[in-house]
Amino acid sequence: MKKITIAIDGYSSCGKSTMAKDLAREIGYVYVDSGAMYRAVTLYALDNGIIQGDEIDEERLRAEMGNIEISFQFNPERGRPDTYLNGVCVEDRIRTLEVSNHVSPIAALGFVREAMVRQQQRMGQEGGIIMDGRDIGTTVFPNAELKIFVTASAEIRAQRRYDELKAKGEQCDFQEILRNVEERDYIDTHREISPLRQAADAIVLDNSHMTIDEQKGWLIGEYIRVACG
Ligand code: C5P
Repeated sequence: MKKITIAIDGYSSCGKSTMAKDLAREIGYVYVDSGAMYRAVTLYALDNGIIQGDEIDEERLRAEMGNIEISFQFNPERGRPDTYLNGVCVEDRIRTLEVSNHVSPIAALGFVREAMVRQQQRMGQEGGIIMDGRDIGTTVFPNAELKIFVTASAEIRAQRRYDELKAKGEQCDFQEILRNVEERDYIDTHREISPLRQAADAIVLDNSHMTIDEQKGWLIGEYIRVACG
């Protein structure tokens, strides 16, 4: 079967990464969570005082982009790759609400996007990759053979995020998470460079009322249709 490129885009917290990583494991593809890369840049900026309150020191971040090295290492216990920032595993730290609250303005900066997209395209050179994000089917891999655009209502997505954080033992407030989801949707769809939008040739999946197993079955069906077609 030929090795294809699979792009999964969509709104925050709509379960893209769960679907993508399950399919990758099933079919032996590499899985890349592109959102984790923007989160790692945000964590770097927070740790180094480049973000103060709501202010971003863009010039400093631009100057320090060369010092930010992001990589992934497969974690067999979790069955998915962990994110590393300058050689340190930051998988848990990039998922906090603090990072979520600052990531979209960082991801809207042109020089940040250029650096991340270059790296993402390098990772996908050989095919056999599943990448999820906001601009994968439109900008990173416009020629991907299979493009999926995932959506679900903001309330359902916030509830999923709330359940996930609770399960990790984090203190969280549903309304604050809902606000964060809506705010990120707004920034991601309205930014100037590579805004979140459905590629013309993407297949839409509204998973508001689907179980994880149902989504998994649906995605494998799409993969077989395209890879064997
Ligand atoms: O996918 P996740 O919610 O972890 O992504 C975090 C943020 O990174 C998104 O809200 C978005 O602002 C940004 N992002 C992006 N382009 C991507 C992936 C994520 O702008 N390809």
